[in-house]
Amino acid sequence: MRWQDFPEDLQPYLLPQPAGRMVYRCLECGAEYGIDRLLYTCPECQGLFLLVDLEADRLKARPGSFWRRLFDYRRLLNDPAVQGVFCYHEFIAPIIPREDIVYLGECHTPQVQANPRLQEEVGMAFYYKNDGQNPSASFKDRGMAAALSYLNFVMRTQKLDGVLAICASTGDTSAAAALYAAYLGDKVASAVLLPHGKVTPQQLSQPLGAGARVLEIPGVFDDCMRVVEALAEHYPVALLNSKNSWRIRGQESYAYEVAQWFDYDLAGKVIVVPIGNAGNITAVLEGLLRFHDLGIIDTLPKVIGVQSRHANPVFRYYQEKNPQRRLFVPVTVQPSVAQAAMIGRPVSMPRVIRLVEEYSRRGGDHSFAVVEVTEQEIMDNMLLANRNGHIACTQGGESLAGLRAALRAGLVQQDEVAVVDATAHHLKFIGFQQMYFDNSFPPEFEVTPRPEYQNRPRLLTPAVRPSHSPWTPEEIQAFTKDMVGQVAAALGLKNRA
Ligand SMILES: *Cc1c(COP(=O)(O)O)cnc(C)c1O
Ligand SMILES: [Zn+2]
Repeated sequence: MRWQDFPEDLQPYLLPQPAGRMVYRCLECGAEYGIDRLLYTCPECQGLFLLVDLEADRLKARPGSFWRRLFDYRRLLNDPAVQGVFCYHEFIAPIIPREDIVYLGECHTPQVQANPRLQEEVGMAFYYKNDGQNPSASFKDRGMAAALSYLNFVMRTQKLDGVLAICASTGDTSAAAALYAAYLGDKVASAVLLPHGKVTPQQLSQPLGAGARVLEIPGVFDDCMRVVEALAEHYPVALLNSKNSWRIRGQESYAYEVAQWFDYDLAGKVIVVPIGNAGNITAVLEGLLRFHDLGIIDTLPKVIGVQSRHANPVFRYYQEKNPQRRLFVPVTVQPSVAQAAMIGRPVSMPRVIRLVEEYSRRGGDHSFAVVEVTEQEIMDNMLLANRNGHIACTQGGESLAGLRAALRAGLVQQDEVAVVDATAHHLKFIGFQQMYFDNSFPPEFEVTPRPEYQNRPRLLTPAVRPSHSPWTPEEIQAFTKDMVGQVAAALGLKNRA
């Protein structure tokens, strides 16, 4: 849209100027630190940070209606700096100038309504929000866009160069980190630590293709995480894990988009997300609270977290109904098809605990819950979804299985409307589909394929296939006729009368 066609009262605000005063605040001891340093945990007590804008109250000078209009109109701008997570600049990282913002096409992912057949089978209205349609094919791009924009900003202003950005990952974080770092060219090198054999070939190919240094560690994600944490303590590296609070900020955009999609009316809505390291659910809760603070939304939706029975520490924690008696105990994970969420010691758990208290206080006890699903349910629901036109990955299948579990448990009602997170693209986790089709899951996954969901290509064998070439016109004709006959027979087609 042309500039002069935007409402005049909004024009001065459409392209945001740097504002606010952001600090890291330790969740444990409350100490605050300036963001001009690359810090991930509290130097005093090793606590996790949340990013706080000390001047956030300035945003309250304007009513919710102002922000709603501003964000809606911003979507019509062609400026790359406000196309992605920074469409919500004032809420993500207001101190970052437009020139430092890295935009690779992330955000504003489609929210696709389930067809009537699927809604009927599930028993309620719902949408899939396809975060696999982000540039590196998972929601992690939202966080990386914020984290690398910040890094770009701090490197320029603090005159740092040759920074090494590093992360441990269950696959998608490293794909996103490598992609965004590659865009910054020589300024940032990236290295990723992966649990050997615990990421899919597609996920492994992504950081390799983007030119990252890829190091594999025998073990699971939790082992890689420990190595990276210790590394960041002793060496000058920029840590791009979920401990990085800029990533949480960027991931808040998911909640903002859902709000915007419903024209900011979240009454009767349910947001369902899988939980692994718990960064995503942290961001969703924090984002919703932030919009609620500003009167941009009036009602907090229900938020349902989902975990596999094979990696369920957050589910176990909230099984205890009395908040005073809750005790967090990490678990040893079992193999899970929701491999990107296969985490027994979620890094962001302290953030979740803090935010859920606030969320439940404002939204009521029923506004937040965590459910558990089986590996079987995850696979069956992924296939069910995709047979109805979706592109859900295994974690997307987990989300849908979670919605259905919540419905059965009475945590969600049939007249509500859910948004189910397909956190990555189907194709990243395609090996699990193949194992389902081939019935080749190792026993520890506990998945038995349902024949009606299995599908295989069928190779047709021509009756005659001359070995010389080129074929004669008669041979081509004979081959085609034979194949047509076989295809028609395979598809049960009847001759036109
Ligand atoms: C990272 C990831 C998750 C888990 O999100 P957390 O923020 O770690 O809880 C789920 N699905 C996919 C596809 C992921 O990449
Ligand atoms: Zn501290």
